[in-house]
Amino acid sequence: MNTRVAASNRLVAWLSVILACAPSATAAAGIYDRALSDMAQIEQSPYVRVLPAGRSPDGRPLRAIVVTDFFSPSQSKARVMICAGQHGDEPNPIVGLTSFLRDLVNRKDARKVLKDCVLIVVPIVNPDGAAANRRTNAAGADVNRDWMKLATEEARFVDTLVSQWHPHVILDLHEWRQRTSVPGDEIEVFSPRAGGSQLQRALALRVGRTAGLTMLQCHGDRQDLLHRRFSSEGYASYLIETACDRPPQEKHAIYRAALYSAVEAISEASSGTRSILSPGSDRYDPVVVAGFLTPKSAPRIVASKGMPVLAAAMSALGFVVLARMARKRERKPCVRYRIRALRRGYDPDPARLSPFSVQAQTTTESYQSVEPDDGAAVFRLPPERINTGPCRQKQTRLMSP
Ligand SMILES: [Zn+2]
Repeated sequence: MNTRVAASNRLVAWLSVILACAPSATAAAGIYDRALSDMAQIEQSPYVRVLPAGRSPDGRPLRAIVVTDFFSPSQSKARVMICAGQHGDEPNPIVGLTSFLRDLVNRKDARKVLKDCVLIVVPIVNPDGAAANRRTNAAGADVNRDWMKLATEEARFVDTLVSQWHPHVILDLHEWRQRTSVPGDEIEVFSPRAGGSQLQRALALRVGRTAGLTMLQCHGDRQDLLHRRFSSEGYASYLIETACDRPPQEKHAIYRAALYSAVEAISEASSGTRSILSPGSDRYDPVVVAGFLTPKSAPRIVASKGMPVLAAAMSALGFVVLARMARKRERKPCVRYRIRALRRGYDPDPARLSPFSVQAQTTTESYQSVEPDDGAAVFRLPPERINTGPCRQKQTRLMSP
C-alpha cells in the first residue's frame, strides 16, 4: 500500500513538473507560429516581395522581405532596414513589427510612405531561439554579441543584406527582460567617439518624441551589437527597446509608433540628407536589388465598353474629386496615422514626449557616467536603482526632476 502511495505521489510530482514546463514552451511555440502565419499573410500583399531565405542552424528559414510601392520609381527611395527577434525570448518586438507591417500594407493612409521608401525587413533574426523561447540560437550563441566575429549564420545573413542594400537607416528591436539602470523605453544612439552624428541624433529625437522613448547616447569600444557595429561603420543605426514592466499591448504600440515615425522621417528627407545619413547609401548594388524593386506586371486598366461617354464623364469627375481628396490628405496624413497609432491602447506620458539625452559610458555597460546634454534637465541615476534584480514589480520612472 505504502509503495503504491509513494508511486502515485511520484507520478503526481512528475505530472506537476511537466504541467509547469508545458505552458511556457507552448506559449513560445504559439508566438513563433503566430508570427509565421502573420508573415505568410503579409507576404501575400502586392507591396511585398520575399527575398531568398537563409537557413538557421536547426534548419529553419531565415526570412527577409522587401516592402515598398513597386510602381513608384525605385532609385530615389530611402532604404530602411528593420530587424527583430535576435533574442528568442523577446517576442514583443516581433509582434509589434508584424502588426506595423500589416497596417502598412493594408491601410491606404499608412502605406503612402512606401512611395518614397523601401523597407528591408528581417522579422525573426533568430527563429530557433524564438521557437524555443530562448535568448541564444540553436548553437547556444548570442546573435547580438556576434557582429564583429560574424560566427553565426543569423548574423552573416543580415550582414549580407546590409552589404547588398546599404540601408540609410537600420532599426533593431529588443525588449528588456529585467529591470535596468536606464529608462527602459529607449532608443540608443551609438558612436565610437563621444558626440557622434548630429543627423543620427536628430532622427533619434524625432522617433523618441513620437513613441515616448528616451534617447540614450552612447560611445565606447563595445561594438559587437548589431546597431553599434553598423553605427561604427557610419550607418544611421539604432537600438529600440521597451521596459520589462510594460503590458504587451503598450509595447506593441510603442514599436508601431517608433517604426512609423522613423519611416516617415526618412521618407520626407531630401536625397541630400539621405546621403549624409549613410556613407554607404550610394554604394548599394542596383543589379542585385533591381529584381526586387520592379513591378511583376503592369497595373490593370479596366475599360468601360457599355456607355463610353458617361464613363468618360464619370471618370473625369472622379479624377477631380480624387485629386482634391489626395491634395487634402497630403497635408497631414502621417500626423493622423501617428495619433491613431498612439491611441491604440497607448497614451504616452506628456512629460516623456520631450526626451532628454543621456551620455553614457558603455565600456562597462553600467551607464554610470551620466551627464546632461542639449541643455536638458540633469539626469542622475539613484545608486540603489543600478543593476537591480529581476523584473517583478512596476518600475519607478527614472525621470529627471
Ligand atoms: Zn534583446
